[in-house]
Amino acid sequence: MLNWKKYSHPLFNSNTYVVYNEKGEAAIIDPTDLVVRQSVIRFIENENLKPIVIINTHGHWDHISGNRLMKETYGIPIAIHEMDKEFLLRPDLNLGAFLGKFQDQYDTSPPADITLKDGDTIFGMEVMHTPGHTPGSISLIYPDRDDARLVLTGDTIFMDSIGRVDLPLGNPDEMLKSIRKLIKILSGDSLILPGHGEVGTWEKLEERNAVLREFLSSWTGS
Ligand SMILES: [Zn+2]
Ligand SMILES: [Zn+2]
Repeated sequence: MLNWKKYSHPLFNSNTYVVYNEKGEAAIIDPTDLVVRQSVIRFIENENLKPIVIINTHGHWDHISGNRLMKETYGIPIAIHEMDKEFLLRPDLNLGAFLGKFQDQYDTSPPADITLKDGDTIFGMEVMHTPGHTPGSISLIYPDRDDARLVLTGDTIFMDSIGRVDLPLGNPDEMLKSIRKLIKILSGDSLILPGHGEVGTWEKLEERNAVLREFLSSWTGS
């Protein structure tokens, strides 16, 4: 069983999750600098958790800007899919270069310590490669036997929408394949923990996500 806590960035709405097990070990997913400073460190202290890894669902700045502080604070490795590892170091790819007046919200990330690929297991979660939003976007699947499974979808699927495919190296065809791959493993009570916005069940998401429905119906392949 995994517990989780979500904090959202007040301006960009990206979600940082602390997921933790019964032993008190924690993985920090998509830390943003501001949220880490304001909330995550205190939460970890209050709950007496022991962070062991940072995982980025993909390399955009709004999911990695807290990597440096988390790594320096806890001395833990940064894990990201091998196809997004360059994003950590390149503001032109992670979009940190285009923040303008919000530049103070961005801190560069140290390089990756662990590179992930499809089918890997990290912190008890299975890595599913779900490219499209970026080449190295991943979803993290926790196959809980008793409870509904937890699925961290990054910027692939949100409760009301899907991730953008028009950013550098985005790819709509890959996105479609990734979403279809994800749907196959989801059941109605699977809990979706997206990279932005609210958390909810797959059943609820299917019911209200018109953008996703339209995207899937536009697909004409086999
Ligand atoms: Zn994002
Ligand atoms: Zn993104």
